[in-house]
Amino acid sequence: MLYRSCNSLKTFWGILLVFCLSGYFQKTTAQNPAAAKYVILITVDGMRSEMVSDPQMPAPTIKQIAQDGIYVKKVNCVAPSSTYPSHTSIITGALPVRHGIYYNTRFNGNGNYNPTNWYADSIRTQTIWGAAKKRGLTTASLLWPVSTHSKDIDINIPEYWSLEQGIDHVQYLRDHSTPAGIFDELEEQATGKLTSQNFNPYTRNREGRTGYMATYIMGKYRPNLMTIHFISTDYYQHKAGIHSNEVKMALSAVDYGINQVIEGLHRHQIADSTVVIVCGDHGFTDVSRLIAPNVWLAEAGLLTSDSLNWKAKFHGSGATMFLYLKEKNDKKTLRAVREKLQSLPDATRSLFRIVEQDELTRLGCSPDVSLAVEPILGVGVATNLTGADVVEQQSGKHGYLSPFDPTTLVAFGPGIPKKIINEINITDIAAFVTTLLGIPFDSPDGRLVEDMVRESACY
Ligand SMILES: [Zn+2]
Repeated sequence: MLYRSCNSLKTFWGILLVFCLSGYFQKTTAQNPAAAKYVILITVDGMRSEMVSDPQMPAPTIKQIAQDGIYVKKVNCVAPSSTYPSHTSIITGALPVRHGIYYNTRFNGNGNYNPTNWYADSIRTQTIWGAAKKRGLTTASLLWPVSTHSKDIDINIPEYWSLEQGIDHVQYLRDHSTPAGIFDELEEQATGKLTSQNFNPYTRNREGRTGYMATYIMGKYRPNLMTIHFISTDYYQHKAGIHSNEVKMALSAVDYGINQVIEGLHRHQIADSTVVIVCGDHGFTDVSRLIAPNVWLAEAGLLTSDSLNWKAKFHGSGATMFLYLKEKNDKKTLRAVREKLQSLPDATRSLFRIVEQDELTRLGCSPDVSLAVEPILGVGVATNLTGADVVEQQSGKHGYLSPFDPTTLVAFGPGIPKKIINEINITDIAAFVTTLLGIPFDSPDGRLVEDMVRESACY
């Protein structure tokens, strides 16, 4: 904190130099290694290592960050490698079993509608936003999953929209952004009028405008910690697989948004005191087929086609299906599920593995799950209850339990060495961020990877 509070005093730098030369500062920074006044943590949804390393991928800004700082080739995800559990693990350093966000949507046995995990108060463990606030730092966030109504984010445009038909999504976002009036201010000062058409998560047009918002907020409010989520890379990889030209266009749009953030830091003369971290929440794989495990439960009479009467039901999306029993200890039904899975034709049975409770526990999944069905690489899952149980479909998927879809990380700025690092866990990122900010943080399932920061904060 000394480093930060005195950095406007010219005389301080002279004293600092003397301390550095004498070795004094190394000792003090080992105890309080604050390196950055500001940290901007950016997620690029579905970012794969090839987006950094492949010369064909149009991401000049992300590649420049990797060149100027660290490039972590492989970031292992949590299980399942889904957007909301992963984002929450990034900001808590905890596995889903601890932070409580197991899926994008909560399992709701009473119908087809599974509510989305929008709200920050669903998170059961400390977040980096909370840790920053506790130390008197300021925070901001743009479009981050599971952030709605967070008490620890001073300026918050959350990821939040209504599933109701005919709703104006941008108005919805405006109504739930905090503090009141911030969304209008951003429109007036940074983006121009926003609509469901020009600020849409299912197009590429949201990304640049998100970058303009971030730049304005950093310029005017100077939050010490800002989190930002770019999303279109996820949508387009799902849609057409990981190698489509549309994915390149989405990556290019995201890269432009990040570029605006960095350019803004220079314009506001805070580039030297800001660390920018860009990482994914998970990677992606191409699939050519989907399996629909709830169809098997319906065939076995354990689930009606309207989903209302059930003894067993699979919950999940993307790449893993988790089995819930209406009565958690209903051994007879669990036996019936196993028998049905084993009775499938060999060609179908070879498309997935059954994941037992002990493995699920080890991975940090929900303790309420009786077993899971995980497809093999190249196969995804579908949630339909009727129709075909195996369908051909070319698309991109993530959300496996196995490490099929790791992500990646790049970062640069004060405190960051120039280095290539082979592998970290996604739960290590919270410790990285809080170390850079010099704030204490208890990372329950992660650790500071020391290669990611310079030994001394004396720059
Ligand atoms: Zn995602």
